[in-house]
Amino acid sequence: MDFSYPEAAEAFRLELRSWLDEHVTEDVRGQGPSLGAEAGSPELERLLAWNRDLADARYAAIAWPEEYGGRGASVMDQVVWAEEMHRAGAPGPINVLGIPNVAPAIMTYGSDAQKRSLLPPMMRGDDIWCQGFSEPDAGSDLASLRTSAVRDGDVGVVNGQKSWTSLGHLADWCELLVRTDAEAPKHQGISCLLVDMTLPGITVRPLITITGGHDFNEMFFDDVRVPVASMLGPENEGWRVAMTTLSHERAGVAKLHLGTRAKVARLLEEAMGTPLGDGRTAAEEPALRQRLARVYLEAELLKLVSDRAISGELHGRTLGPESSIAKLVWSETEQHIAEVAAAVLGPMAGTGSWGTDRVAVRSHTIAGGTTQVNKNIIARRVLGLPR
Ligand SMILES: Cc1cc2nc3c(=O)[nH]c(=O)nc-3n(C[C@H](O)[C@H](O)[C@H](O)COP(=O)(O)OP(=O)(O)OC[C@H]3O[C@@H](n4cnc5c(N)ncnc54)[C@H](O)[C@@H]3O)c2cc1C
Repeated sequence: MDFSYPEAAEAFRLELRSWLDEHVTEDVRGQGPSLGAEAGSPELERLLAWNRDLADARYAAIAWPEEYGGRGASVMDQVVWAEEMHRAGAPGPINVLGIPNVAPAIMTYGSDAQKRSLLPPMMRGDDIWCQGFSEPDAGSDLASLRTSAVRDGDVGVVNGQKSWTSLGHLADWCELLVRTDAEAPKHQGISCLLVDMTLPGITVRPLITITGGHDFNEMFFDDVRVPVASMLGPENEGWRVAMTTLSHERAGVAKLHLGTRAKVARLLEEAMGTPLGDGRTAAEEPALRQRLARVYLEAELLKLVSDRAISGELHGRTLGPESSIAKLVWSETEQHIAEVAAAVLGPMAGTGSWGTDRVAVRSHTIAGGTTQVNKNIIARRVLGLPR
């Protein structure tokens, strides 16, 4: 692993830092982007206005090619972007799924008309995107999906149910996976549709999480007539399109150590200020010190895993198992931090952000590929074990 920040990346850092210092206002600092913001709420309106500022300055999707409003940024510029946004407490763009996941699929498989009409409003947050992949009986085994589209002239008639759809309640568009050939082997009968969420027959119902948040939804499609021109990529090749999306989603995890390490630093500070009632603080109690040291080391390990993935990219290696390892370490570390916070802070850890965190982090080992699925990938691709 050998990379240092090249001069160009440091120059980009200075430019971005001074723009952020000038533009991040207190009402958006540290605000998200929140997947749970409700339509029309002041919180969402602030995030959308901020998103437009980011896009106008071409900081919303720096990895995108210039022709679509990005900067064609290098890997190191992307790392710098993540670091500086984190330092400034600046929310990223609202399209947390659209920009990193859906857009690469549109860029790879979309027609010119699809690229021109869909990408700019996605970047500005004028259109919000969701991903309709998972179903009640198709999650890790996504290829078992049953939502179908049946051809009727120049439309596909869609019927079925999707679940756990983040941003579904705000979405203007959905990248939807549907079965278009029920006879073909299951990976080969799937197509990808870009669906206008205002079409008749679509119902979005909230799923309220254990934290009380409205982070995701279930979506029902009843005889929804989707134009065939809305297909992304060739018919029955939706699996390939979906995999483009997922490989980008996993690559994004490489930058998550920033938030995790900041959380450990906050916990250490709070431990030093938490009295145990016997004259000592939590940071002075031997068993707690060991647990604090352990999560600190896990978070540092996460940084090393991330750096290794980035170094691999700089040397032209395709991101593969490294992103699965990073996802695994990140999600497990986040859960360990929440457990240690509960032990260190006692009842105080049941309230505020630590209280929310304690339950919210349970989802990290499920979303974007479960721990078990990631372990399977690592077992096969890193350890060379049989299926
Ligand atoms: C916060 C959050 C946001 C999400 N957002 C979206 C979204 O926007 N769009 C979307 O389409 N989906 C979304 N999902 C769904 C997510 O992709 C699925 O939850 C995930 O793929 C797991 O599928 P499942 O829930 O059906 O669990 P299952 O696949 O049924 O898994 C159940 C258990 O079995 C284990 N398991 C499954 N297969 C294997 C195997 N082969 N070997 C060993 N163990 C296995 C799993 O690890 C898990 O513990 C989201 C989920 C969460 C938690």
